[in-house]
Amino acid sequence: MEIYNHPTFNMACQQFELAADQLEIPATERPRLKYPKRAMIVSLPCRAADGSTRVFEGFRVQHHLTLGPTKGGLRYHPDVTLGEVAALAMWMSWKCALTGLPYGGAKGGIACDPRHMTPAELEQLTRRFTQEMIPFIGPQVDIMAPDMGTNEQVMAWIMDSYSVHMGHSVPSIVTGKPVSLGGSLGRREATGRGVAHLVARAADTIGLDLKQATAVVQGYGNVGSVSAQTLDSFGVKIIAVSDVFGGIFNTRGIDLVKLDEHVARHRTVKDFPEAEPVSNEQLLLTPCDILVPAAMERQITGANAARIHCRILAEGANGPTTPEADVILNQRDEVFVIPDILCNAGGVVVSYFEWVQDLQSFFWSETEVMQRLYHILDEAYDHVWRQARAKKISMRLAALSVGIQRVREAKALRGLFP
Ligand code: NAD
Repeated sequence: MEIYNHPTFNMACQQFELAADQLEIPATERPRLKYPKRAMIVSLPCRAADGSTRVFEGFRVQHHLTLGPTKGGLRYHPDVTLGEVAALAMWMSWKCALTGLPYGGAKGGIACDPRHMTPAELEQLTRRFTQEMIPFIGPQVDIMAPDMGTNEQVMAWIMDSYSVHMGHSVPSIVTGKPVSLGGSLGRREATGRGVAHLVARAADTIGLDLKQATAVVQGYGNVGSVSAQTLDSFGVKIIAVSDVFGGIFNTRGIDLVKLDEHVARHRTVKDFPEAEPVSNEQLLLTPCDILVPAAMERQITGANAARIHCRILAEGANGPTTPEADVILNQRDEVFVIPDILCNAGGVVVSYFEWVQDLQSFFWSETEVMQRLYHILDEAYDHVWRQARAKKISMRLAALSVGIQRVREAKALRGLFP
């Protein structure tokens, strides 16, 4: 389908085809599994602070509706396109199926730069997008969550706009909202803690002592900062981190408490006094034990995959590694990859818990949330690791195959509506 044409969508399709080959899915069955069920593109006219009107493009892609409502984040970034959102929606489908959640995948986005917008402009844009989406979303239809460039406040505005339309509060319309509005304890930290938990599992698998280990994190946002803090609490030395403005590096380790104070003041890790500057490109090549890409897609490519130096590649971001890079990494036995749909699944798992708690109006303690999260992640990790070993395939191919096979079985059982 030409409308989705984008390097990230093409990459998601390439990954799908490799897994479909592995599963021996006939060519005639593949398009039904691969292509999104629905895609919406909306124009969002908003009045800027200077009084001018600007029209933003908004997208929402619902990948499949076979197992329940669709679920997925909402991204605010200048480069958001329909194809990128469609790829992220497809990965959400395999991720939800891999972790046994009763959802199809979805993703949304608005092409905008939230760093250069006032809170009032962001609120207006978010409410306008929600209004346009009302016919296509709902707690049993499609549930949004934060992704890059969005946060709890954005979720609160979506929840309020939807609730005003319905005439009563509907907390289950979004996840990742503030705890005071029906959000779940542990949701904000869930993705990063899940990443660190799975790094600890991988370290056990390969015999790496975390107390002697070093880590590098690309993208010090929600996922990256919590991953770094949790790894730090395990005794790992964080030697480099970055954000969109650049990176910082210190072989003796970065004091994250001081770094967080710096980020709170300057809204960037850049110019942190107790470290050397490093570019995002150099950062990925920094020798370390654990490399956590937690920013954008397609960062580890055919051009740099041979030169990354880590024992564990823990994919906090969605789609950080291209299929060309995978070919190289598959030949490098010393690099253990925790693929994105497994590694960052903590976010959607606790989003699922939040949705369940909202539907039941019955809330859990943080300890309960975290225990249940780690149980699901452990089961998924064990399953993927067993498949990878039994079939002698990569962790990524194993994870994708488990997710895709579950969606495939569900579609076969439901049949094709005539
Ligand atoms: P965020 O907006 O909180 O943080 C993103 C960080 O990446 C920021 O520090 C930003 O400055 C940095 N960044 C952006 N572009 C960059 C670039 N080109 N190079 C280096 N750094 C860059 O976003 P987030 O929620 O932490 O999401 C990060 C990644 O994790 C995305 O791929 C997202 O899809 C994925 N993810 C997020 C969640 C979640 O719960 N938030 C769950 C699963 C996966």
